[in-house]
Amino acid sequence: MAHVFKHLVLVLKHKHKVFINCCKCGLFWRGLVHDMSKLSPTEFFESAKYYAGKHSPITNARIDKGYSRAWLHHKGRNKHHIEYWYDSQNKEQADMPYKYAVENICDRIAAGKTYHKLDYMPKNVLNYWQRTVEPQYYNERMYNFYLKVFTDLAEKGEKYILNKKYLKATYYECVTKPKQRRLPPAEKQIQTELPTDL
Ligand SMILES: [Zn+2]
Repeated sequence: MAHVFKHLVLVLKHKHKVFINCCKCGLFWRGLVHDMSKLSPTEFFESAKYYAGKHSPITNARIDKGYSRAWLHHKGRNKHHIEYWYDSQNKEQADMPYKYAVENICDRIAAGKTYHKLDYMPKNVLNYWQRTVEPQYYNERMYNFYLKVFTDLAEKGEKYILNKKYLKATYYECVTKPKQRRLPPAEKQIQTELPTDL
């Protein structure tokens, strides 16, 4: 348990960075409660044991044991992870609500800075996402949303994307609008059900 202190510092530093990012997007509460389950015994002690510093301890746990209990515990309790919304029985995966989708972006930027330290560049977030993305977790809308946001982050910088105006507009364009377009308005549905020979 040599890394209890180092891991605690890492978690708190990460939470602090996420908090700052979330505040820039107007999500004060999400920033405050972000990743609280990392302090639960199931997550904390496994991650302290597999502390790596330059990458997530979950990776080391997986290499050693083939799975990470901390991750299984974490993804089931934290709505900012797309895996939380995954149901293998669904034909199409659910949309992540706006506030959690944004918390995820704040999380990834903070994690990039934590692990890359001085050589962090905004394009690291896009590269990491593209390298590790598992498409089964995403419906087309959520996939397009993240691709757009991380591409804009890489090309136009953090200030451009980390604000309420940009994120609301992008979520609307990529997620809300395509979904609305697909579902016909309620009145239309009723009309088509009326017998035509009236
Ligand atoms: Zn998390």
